Amino acid sequence: MSSQANEPLIRDIVQEVLGRLGRSAPSGAGKAGTPAAAPSPACDRPGPTHAPASRPGRYGVFGDANEACAAAHAAYRQLSEKGVAGRNTVVRIIKEICCAKSKEWGRLELDETKIGRLDHKIEKLEGLRAVPGVEFLQPYGLSGDHGITLEECAPFGVIGAVTPSTHSIPTVACNIISMVAAGNSVVFNAHPGAAKCALAAVRVFNESIHRELGIENLACLIDPPTLDSFQALAKNEHVKLLCVTGGPGVVKAAMASGKRAVCAGPGNPPVLVDGTSCLERAARQVILGAAYDNNVLCIGEKEVFVLDRVFDAFLAALEKNGACRLSGAQVERLTQAAFTFLPGHGGGCAEPVVNRALIGKDVPVLAQAAGINAPAGAPLLFAETEANHPFVQEEQMMPFLPVVRVRSVEEGIEGARIAERGYKHSAMIHSHDVANMTAMAKALETTLFVKNGSCLAGLGNGGEGYPNFSIATTTGEGICNPRTFTRMRRCVMVDKLRIF
Ligand code: NAD
Repeated sequence: MSSQANEPLIRDIVQEVLGRLGRSAPSGAGKAGTPAAAPSPACDRPGPTHAPASRPGRYGVFGDANEACAAAHAAYRQLSEKGVAGRNTVVRIIKEICCAKSKEWGRLELDETKIGRLDHKIEKLEGLRAVPGVEFLQPYGLSGDHGITLEECAPFGVIGAVTPSTHSIPTVACNIISMVAAGNSVVFNAHPGAAKCALAAVRVFNESIHRELGIENLACLIDPPTLDSFQALAKNEHVKLLCVTGGPGVVKAAMASGKRAVCAGPGNPPVLVDGTSCLERAARQVILGAAYDNNVLCIGEKEVFVLDRVFDAFLAALEKNGACRLSGAQVERLTQAAFTFLPGHGGGCAEPVVNRALIGKDVPVLAQAAGINAPAGAPLLFAETEANHPFVQEEQMMPFLPVVRVRSVEEGIEGARIAERGYKHSAMIHSHDVANMTAMAKALETTLFVKNGSCLAGLGNGGEGYPNFSIATTTGEGICNPRTFTRMRRCVMVDKLRIF
């Protein structure tokens, strides 16, 4: 082997030895122009990793899951040396970059995934401003005859995260904000169909964090992401917690991993319109939510149940507000394009499977599949369907809204409960009847329940509250925030320290 080929190896060994001695590497040992990381007393303690220290200049991008986890673990140690101020700096950096690059990254993500709408991709990145940071972590104090006790929100360490194709950069960014605000580092296994944009974002985040704090790999990403790299991530000894955002497959895989997992799973949010509130407003809000990013939001309105006596008036209000009505024959054509039907188990009913090629596509594309040309600028297609229609029962993520006629509030709530499929994700009601609101909330037990607003109000856009792109429905943590990524630790001072 030439001496040149040996150079990175020697540099790695020098870094490792100096790291253990608590000194930073001489500048010549690192990559030219790369500031050496601040010396960290925590590095004196040998970590549990046997993977070699990562070479500088990776800025979070690793081909190997175990190498990524080792680098994220070293970064976690460095972050703890930077204190709360360091975490605040990272949160500020992520938010600033997402705002500054919203247009560029919105386009980048849309070009890669071909899912959703550019204006909403940009809005989602800019909306990250409102994701809570370190201020969300409040310790709990006790003071009494026996002294003082403090319960603190402590970090886990390295978190393994999986992100969806529907909002790749926004989920990566808001996961970093919540996880780092809580003092953790993170390794991502992004969706393969949305991994290039996630990689670009992670690299820019790390470059900036490195410039300001000297930490290079706080948010790592495995390139390319595969099912095997997910398994390696889940098994890695540094990874103390998983956070997965996606459909049923990844939730199942995370739950089976044996690690503690925060699972932000699938949804199929129903809406009930009982006719006791303004129909015009209900129609506008339903369009707002269901049309958003071509209905790829997991919280987005996916099907509506409307009382018979106001049914026709509600459809007219949808039309008046720009949505385009399909006939029965057009819905049938769209259904054949949007689903394939697998033979049911034991000769039972055929099982519809969503055609991924139509997920998040624009209204004109869907309209073509239905056999019509939609009016220019129509935000949404809709039609009357039966309650058992595949568009009602499956999480279809397309800007087509099935509307079901029901004879009573009870029938509407039961239809909504069945369509929601026990995901306990999100539901909406348009009503001024408190008893109906309560009955629906009790029957569905969803994580988000919005009254008289669009689904977006559930994430602070038109309603009170903060946003996040990971809503931990399956495992019950709710809308993720920095607290979600902490473990509670109690510190007890016996007797003498009270001031009275
Ligand atoms: P998806 O389930 O196809 O993929 C999500 C992620 O899981 C991807 O990174 C994918 O590579 C990974 N994955 C899938 N199966 C896996 C397995 N067996 N092992 C390991 N990793 C696996 O979902 P998608 O199309 O990217 O996103 C849409 C889905 O995500 C919808 O069901 C939507 O409701 C859900 N979602 C939920 C939330 C939430 O906060 N609850 C947020 C966004 C999206």
